[in-house]
Amino acid sequence: MIAEVKCDKCRAECCRNSVIPLNIIDLKKILYHVKEYNAVDVDSRFKVIEHNGKPLVAINDPSEGLPQIYLASPCAFLNEDNLCSLHKLQVKDKEFAEYLDTLELSRDIKPLACRAHPYFFDNNEGISRWADCRNTKSSFPVEDKNLEWIVHEKDICTVLQKNQKLF
Ligand code: SF4
Ligand code: SF4
Repeated sequence: MIAEVKCDKCRAECCRNSVIPLNIIDLKKILYHVKEYNAVDVDSRFKVIEHNGKPLVAINDPSEGLPQIYLASPCAFLNEDNLCSLHKLQVKDKEFAEYLDTLELSRDIKPLACRAHPYFFDNNEGISRWADCRNTKSSFPVEDKNLEWIVHEKDICTVLQKNQKLF
C-alpha cells in the first residue's frame, strides 16, 4: 500500500534536505524569474549561482558528460511558511512561453523534479516513487500512463542540455 503524503504535517523536509536535480529548462526558468544573479566559480568545475547573496543553484561541470545542476539546499524558494514560492508561477516572457509550448514543456517555473515529486524518472528503472518522501533512499517502480509527462519533459530537456549553453 502506498503511504499518503501529508505535506501540511511536515516542515517541507524534501525542500530542506534533498538534493534536487534541475535540467537546463528548469535553470533557464529560474534565471528568468530571479532576473539578477551572479555566477561564482568555486573552482574550475564547480559553480554556484547566487541571488541577493544567497546560493540558488549549484553546477558541477565534469570533464566528460553533461553538467549536473542542482538546487542549493535548503532551497532558496522555500518561504517562511514552509511553502514553495514558485508554486503555480508561470513563465511570463511571451517568446520563452511559446518556445516551451512548441516543445510541449510546462510553463510552470517550479522545477520538473519538484512537480513530479514523490515520483521520479530513471533511464534504467523508468518511473518510480520514493517509498518515504522524507527519506529519499528507497523507491519502487510505478506503471502509470498519467505520469508519462515526466518522461517526456526529462527526455526533451536532456537533448536540449546536450546542445545548448547553460546560460
Ligand atoms: S517531505 Fe513529503 S510530506 Fe514533507 S513536504 Fe515534502 S512531499 Fe510533503
Ligand atoms: S522549488 Fe519549491 S518545491 Fe522545489 S525544492 Fe524549492 S521550495 Fe521545494
